[in-house]
This record gives sequence, C-alpha cells and structure tokens, in this order.
Amino acid sequence: MKILVPVKRVIDYNVKPRVKADGTGVDLANVKMSMNPFDEIAVEEAIRLKEAGKAEEIIAISVGPTKAQETLRTALAMGADRAILVETDAEVEPLAVAKILKAIVAEENPGLVILGKQAIDDDSNQTGQMLAALLGRPQGTFASKVEIDGDSVAVTREVDGGLETVKLSLPAIVTTDLRLNEPRYASLPNIMKAKKKQLDVKSPADYGVDITPRLKTLKVSEPPVRSAGIKVADVDALVAKLKEMGVA
Ligand code: AMP
Repeated sequence: MKILVPVKRVIDYNVKPRVKADGTGVDLANVKMSMNPFDEIAVEEAIRLKEAGKAEEIIAISVGPTKAQETLRTALAMGADRAILVETDAEVEPLAVAKILKAIVAEENPGLVILGKQAIDDDSNQTGQMLAALLGRPQGTFASKVEIDGDSVAVTREVDGGLETVKLSLPAIVTTDLRLNEPRYASLPNIMKAKKKQLDVKSPADYGVDITPRLKTLKVSEPPVRSAGIKVADVDALVAKLKEMGVA
C-alpha cells in the first residue's frame, strides 16, 4: 500500500505573526517557515505504518513555492520515500489543494492519504474533508489512533467530551490530531540521504487544476491589546470589584 502525505510550508509555530502595515495579510518577510505541525504528525504516522509492515511507500506532497522543497526534504529526511512539489507562488485555497491531491490520488492510487487536521496559517480545517468528498472516499478526521486491519482502518477520533472510533474501508482519508504521536527528528545521516531522494516538480496546470482564489481577504488586523490587570488586597475586595464591574 502507498500512503500520500500532503505537507504544507507555514509560518513556524514559535513565531509571533506580525500583520502587514497595510492590513493585507501576515508579514512573512524574513520569518522562519516550517512544516505545518499536524503534517509532521502525519508523516510520522505514515512512517510508523511502514515500519509495522502495513505500507510500502510514502509520498510527500506540497503545493507551494520553490522553497516548499525544504519542507519536502524534511519529510524525506524523516522517512518518506519520494516527494512531489506542485509549484506555485500563488496562495492556494483548500479546495484547489484538494483538487490537485485528487488528481495525484488518481495517478498514484494510495490506500491512505494522511493530512494534518488543519494548517496553522489559514486554520481552515477543510482540505482533508474536501478531498474525501471529491473522491467519494471515507474519512476519519482528528485521529488520535490509526490501526490498519486488512482492508479497513480503525480511526479513533478526538470529539467533544470523549473519543469516537470509526472503521473505514480502504482506500480512505485520515486527518491527524495532536495526540496521535510525537514526530521524530531527522538524523544528520538521514538529512544527507534525503538530498538524493526523488523530488518531482509539477505545476497545478499539469493536473488541470485552476487555482484562482474564490475568497478575497478584506482585512487582517492584530487582536485587540489586552488592558492591564489590577491587584486587589483580599477576597472581599475582589468580590466588591467584581460586583462593581457587574460580573458577580
Ligand atoms: P487546511 O484545510 O488548510 O487547514 O489544511 C489541512 C491539511 O491539508 C494540512 O495539514 C495539510 O496536510 C494539507 N494541506 C493544506 N494546504 C496544503 C498545501 N498547500 N500543500 C500541501 N498540503 C496542504
């Protein structure tokens, strides 16, 4: 079985995003970029399935600029076998990414596509669900456990107030939640080896997908600055203050 793992290059999760002065978006100039954290978890899960003998090949895919090659090399250094960059400098919305992935699924015929549950830049949480809908395949989203058993996969999902386990027949789409696993770090020898692994560069047009945006960002603004707190002497003063503020 092949596993496809879409990985997005996003602003690093440790970076505090700054909004551009003209309010048109987040300033990405000279900002550290990394693999979307949920996608690292997806790569790790695919590797564990391969190590357990449940998969033969892992293909990492990214839709993005030339620099997304670095993200793909990271996936290759972790343990993916080969990679495909669908190169574009445009911002690509989840539906267009899902359509590109659908075309790659038609070529590669994977048993599983494991995506992150959301990209931490757009927070859309849409691509996996859209891909499943476009393909008419079962989906197990927000996975905290993935177990392949013959021609089906059991996915334990993080839902409000507990866990739900669904059984999907393969081929299927899975999206990862934080608790699924702890991704490994790539070792130096593996980083060196990854440089020689196959990385094909394609364009959205190669897959016949029009990536023209359907959404227009009207304005991006910083969250309101928190006002300073106050100190009270004791519990009585706290209660009095809360009453004065109308919250007790
Ligand atoms: P989103 O729907 O944008 O929150 O993204 C959910 C998941 O879809 C991500 O965690 C990735 O696995 C995948 N994905 C979204 N955009 C891209 C992209 N440009 N390239 C590769 N994978 C992507």
